[in-house]
Amino acid sequence: MPNNQYNAIVVGGGIAGVACAAEMTLLGMRPLLVCETKEVGSTLRSCWVGSNRGIQQHPEFQVGWGGGWWYKLVRRMDIPVKLHPSHPLTATVVGDWTELDIPILPSASGITDLICAMQPAMEEIRAPLHRLIHQGLMIPYEELCDMTQVSMEEWLLEQGAEGAMVSLVLSLITNLLAVPIDDAKELSVFGGWGGLRTMVCGEGMLVVPDPDPREGLCVPIAHAVERYGGEIWRGRKVANVVTDGGRATGIVMEDGTEASAPAVAIATGNPRIPAILDPLPPEVAEAVAYSQRFVAKEDLNVYSVLEREVVKRDRLWIVMDTDGSNLQWSWPIHSYPWTTTPGKNLTAAIRTLPPGSFDSQGGIESVVTKMNEVDEHLWPGFIDAIEDYGVLQHKHHWSAPQMCGPKMPRVCESVPGLYFVGDGSIPIGGFFVESAASAGMMGAHAIKEALVPA
Ligand SMILES: Cc1cc2nc3c(=O)[nH]c(=O)nc-3n(C[C@H](O)[C@H](O)[C@H](O)COP(=O)(O)OP(=O)(O)OC[C@H]3O[C@@H](n4cnc5c(N)ncnc54)[C@H](O)[C@@H]3O)c2cc1C
Repeated sequence: MPNNQYNAIVVGGGIAGVACAAEMTLLGMRPLLVCETKEVGSTLRSCWVGSNRGIQQHPEFQVGWGGGWWYKLVRRMDIPVKLHPSHPLTATVVGDWTELDIPILPSASGITDLICAMQPAMEEIRAPLHRLIHQGLMIPYEELCDMTQVSMEEWLLEQGAEGAMVSLVLSLITNLLAVPIDDAKELSVFGGWGGLRTMVCGEGMLVVPDPDPREGLCVPIAHAVERYGGEIWRGRKVANVVTDGGRATGIVMEDGTEASAPAVAIATGNPRIPAILDPLPPEVAEAVAYSQRFVAKEDLNVYSVLEREVVKRDRLWIVMDTDGSNLQWSWPIHSYPWTTTPGKNLTAAIRTLPPGSFDSQGGIESVVTKMNEVDEHLWPGFIDAIEDYGVLQHKHHWSAPQMCGPKMPRVCESVPGLYFVGDGSIPIGGFFVESAASAGMMGAHAIKEALVPA
């Protein structure tokens, strides 16, 4: 477009921004998407250990909630994406190490049976536990998506759950979401029941794009944006959102280039919003501060190349600590053969820790050693077989959308023309990658409607 003028500018080339720009092109708009890294989808990147590709995310799509967002986008834009099913879940508890495979459980009866199998003491509360889970599963998903700011703990208490039952349900869900138990009190009803329904009841599906979520999903969607007439500026960082008379009118880049549009959509991840929005609109300050709390968590992803076959089963292992908190998740990656040197095993493990944990636990190396010790229990011979390893950490944590604190509004009332279309803005329609994609795509519709009133 002449003079860098667009219908809309989307800031941030994660899955939220890419899905937003893609949906805009399908709505007949010509967006500019700005991505500070040399290619889109940096959060979804792999960790290379030599020539082995340590895939991190298994993107979620909400198959049971209307068929999902990015999945349907891929179909509508006819993008050649190849997805492989993720591994099923297995739970185990430190000390006991007995493994319990978790099948897809659509009903409260099946879930209650599983909980009682894991913790036989729960037989005593089987009937009220079953009733409670049934209530959670019966909430229509559209209503659940509106319950992002309702506390799960308070909801459970309101339903008459006793303290022990509340703790049990919260511990179960924080394990499924791989978030620290300290965050359990912050879970929303959306995060709580949505998490269980997504991960256990089959309402969501985890997949592994070939070759990884960045190159196999985010980048192909970005190419489709360009094919459909959108523009992408790669490797260029937005310095500020430009306003004129209190209205958002465009952006200025770090190199001084300007671009203008009647709508500016932010998908940078909430913690980074203050860097490009000064002053911060009053209605978003609380939500930004809230999401910054979760960014302070320390996530550590360890990818180990094993010189021989040690992992005998393709599962996603959820390792619970003795106090019911999530210790780590561990899983094989070599099951996706393009990722791993033939004859080797490649594994991943992730821990999410409260801020300051690396210091208090003797540094990252010491945490890696502890994670390896857990993997040794899952896969005897693991430590001896380690040939090489790599670690990855992220700035943008995944849990804020599932927590009940303040959220970013889609439309910024105090700055006309400004929209929030990323993870942690509402409304949303799914979990994890899907929460970001759904926010981006709903954002595209909100902007289109504002620009061309019906
Ligand atoms: C360790 C880990 C494991 C996860 N596992 C899963 C999983 O298994 N399944 C799943 O579905 N989800 C998973 N997630 C969650 C998922 O990765 C996120 O929900 C999703 O990637 C968020 O996308 P986003 O577009 O909202 O944010 P981001 O991916 O953070 O995108 C924001 C983008 O904005 C860019 N940006 C910021 N400021 C500027 C600026 N000034 N100018 C230009 N660009 C800017 C950043 O570079 C970034 O690319 C995981 C997340 C983590 C961290």
